[in-house]
Amino acid sequence: MKDLGIVPDGAVYLEGGRLKEVGDTRDVLRLRGGTREVIDATGKVVMPGLVDAHTHAAFAGSRHHELPWKAEGLSYKEIAARGGGILSTVRDTRAAPREALIAATRKRLDGMLRFGTTTAEVKSGYGLTPESELEILLAIEEISNGHPMGIVSTFLGAHAVPPEFEGRGDAYADLVANEMIPAIATRSGARFCDAWVEEGSFTPEQARRVFAAAKARGLDAKVHADELSDSGGAALAAEVGATSADHLIHSSDAGLRAMADAGVIGVLLPATSLAGRLPFVDARKIINAGVAVALGTDLSPGSWNESMQASVALATHRLGMYPEEAVTAATVNAAFAIGKGREVGTLEPGMAADLLVLDADSVGHLGYRVSGNLVEKVIKAGRVVVDRAPLR
Ligand SMILES: [Zn+2]
Repeated sequence: MKDLGIVPDGAVYLEGGRLKEVGDTRDVLRLRGGTREVIDATGKVVMPGLVDAHTHAAFAGSRHHELPWKAEGLSYKEIAARGGGILSTVRDTRAAPREALIAATRKRLDGMLRFGTTTAEVKSGYGLTPESELEILLAIEEISNGHPMGIVSTFLGAHAVPPEFEGRGDAYADLVANEMIPAIATRSGARFCDAWVEEGSFTPEQARRVFAAAKARGLDAKVHADELSDSGGAALAAEVGATSADHLIHSSDAGLRAMADAGVIGVLLPATSLAGRLPFVDARKIINAGVAVALGTDLSPGSWNESMQASVALATHRLGMYPEEAVTAATVNAAFAIGKGREVGTLEPGMAADLLVLDADSVGHLGYRVSGNLVEKVIKAGRVVVDRAPLR
């Protein structure tokens, strides 16, 4: 993860939305001399577009009114008991007209793109009925068709037990497995099925049934694992052959070893610890266990972070990651965490021409700067989609 393969005086040649040549500037010019359109990035950094491995970007409303409750010291569960938390966003999202949900989500994707994210995962999970979950996934698909961002969608029906099923988690998990998954699998374009394994959310046994139904319909697994306590999420992810297990704040050593053996990627979400006032995960422990680590924003109403640059900075300043590791985690490893590792996340011939030009003379500024936006240009599939010219 520490080897970025930096070419000190490098160039890339792209055509038809793909990279054709990558290497030393003189070599690329010799092979592709007479190129018509040239972007001069002298003295700057050119790197792969950032990949956001975990977002809940499709929601209506906001939860800014919960911040004073957090200031009073209320816990996540106490805020939920006051009518806040996930279920308040479920109410807002169920009530939102489709066009409003699409407009609000698209605005957030615009923000992410300006911070350099060119590919992102987006989950459902604020509907929690067969109809509304499908509706959210279809909205994500519609947005995906008209937005520069590359989007991978994930079905998260097992996000929370909705009020109609209060105290009947088993019955709701069965609804997810037996009705929702068959309904969304063929119609929604979702690639993954996620479940929140935690006391008060879903037990490993309930999630196991959900993942079995998902697998039968061709959806790969992702797990919200061990965020608030060691709930066996990491071990479950290994057992079901999940693509990733996310959060991992309280995962046991045995769970992490099982993930490494099974090739499950660990997605770390430091902005959630910041906004949720949770401990920061120990990335060194996870990397040393042999787990490939990726990063995400966890953009959601509870931790509204549109910037992968912020996630990289939190990873270096608070999770114990080396800057190079954090860049790897925000590009190639994040791409593999969402099933896109053969298409995006590195600069190699044949890969998508998803590039950033950073207004910095070293990639070391990523992770070093706590805040701000280093992105000067964003190129998605060969097209300049963001150009932040200096102010005059
Ligand atoms: Zn999440």
